[in-house]
Amino acid sequence: MAIIVQKYGGTSLSSIVKIKLAAKKVIEYKQLGHKVVVVVSAMAGETNRLANLIKEMSIAINSPQSDLILSTGEQVSASLLCAAIHNLDFIATVYAGTNIPIITNNCFSRARINRIDISSLIEDMNSGKIPVVAGFQGKTEKGEITTLGRGGSDITAVALAAALEAEECQIYTDVSGVYTTDPKIVKDAKLLKHITLEEMLEMSSLGAKILHPRAVEFIAKHAVKVRVLHALENNQGTLITLDESPLMEERVVSGIAFSKDDALFTIKGIPNKTEYTYKLLNAMGKHHIDIDIIVQNTSSDAINDLTFTVHKEDFHRSKILLDKILPEIKAVDIIHDINIAKVSVIGVGMRSHCGVAAQVFNTLAKSGISMKIISTSEIKVSVVIVDSLLDTAVRALHNSFKLHELSSPLVDSLAEVN
Ligand code: ASP
Ligand code: MG
Repeated sequence: MAIIVQKYGGTSLSSIVKIKLAAKKVIEYKQLGHKVVVVVSAMAGETNRLANLIKEMSIAINSPQSDLILSTGEQVSASLLCAAIHNLDFIATVYAGTNIPIITNNCFSRARINRIDISSLIEDMNSGKIPVVAGFQGKTEKGEITTLGRGGSDITAVALAAALEAEECQIYTDVSGVYTTDPKIVKDAKLLKHITLEEMLEMSSLGAKILHPRAVEFIAKHAVKVRVLHALENNQGTLITLDESPLMEERVVSGIAFSKDDALFTIKGIPNKTEYTYKLLNAMGKHHIDIDIIVQNTSSDAINDLTFTVHKEDFHRSKILLDKILPEIKAVDIIHDINIAKVSVIGVGMRSHCGVAAQVFNTLAKSGISMKIISTSEIKVSVVIVDSLLDTAVRALHNSFKLHELSSPLVDSLAEVN
């Protein structure tokens, strides 16, 4: 009997009616002869509500108290789902992260999983029970409850699937899977039946917020087979594959991802000494400010301009820090811009096809969109543009790469799905 891990997101558990539907789906799989382990998120909106209480009471967000409060949302939904399964005459056991246990480090609010004891889960399944696990949480070696970071129940699900060597980890959500781009912006976006892990990593860190990027890391490390699918539909969703089949190479571009989460800084007039670039980036790192794209230009008089992006939420901290560092690195000026968006054209097929970047620039030129930064990798061309033109850019690129016409066994149209 294969082990299937099913994870239900907050929108799939947002009411008692939906929790009952999830229970039915769990039982459907059990009746197909699988051993099922269920991981749940908190009911939609609940973690935000708890986070607001924490803020109102001025509790530090990375403290044990804060994590104790945050972890309750998942404990409630796990208990309710467990009861719904019982009401359908199947036996389920409810677990908080602490009861399994899932052992993490002690970085409260963004803990990392160190190990998982799967013995009680195995015991349950062997005696016909369905374990229902509260996602997003664990405990330190000392026994304090930790949470894994917002969106972290994906991490619980994939980590459990890895530990249990599950046949498949199914992520049930309120979208049908991974689309060629956001269907809210492009109506005829297509559902991808398969996506490679690398593409998924680019998609999820770029704002196609389907899977937590750290869950994607787990997939890579442990070769977990993950499928993203709609909780209320009966289609196959999107399977995240580890292999790039030859068929996938024919698909030059798989999707257009975008994000409005970044802000841009340009430090002007830094003398061309590597030590200054190091000093600047090291200071950012020490303050835990993540930097995404970095571009450095050196003019003929050996003076550098350094441009980079940070998360919008780190903008103010970054600005204060950079103002302080400016004299130390002998820079002349600092420019910032928060009205930016990043658009990325993604596809493993790019490895074996040329001209993709040129086509991106041509498409944007024709739409009158200028680019502030360009950055490329083997499977991605990203550009930073003014945020007001984001939708125009996404539509133009989706159209230019004919993603609405993708017709292979690898895609489903929205119409077929709904
Ligand atoms: N409930 C948590 C959150 O809202 C974890 C999750 O849903 O994955 O961030
Ligand atoms: Mg999520």
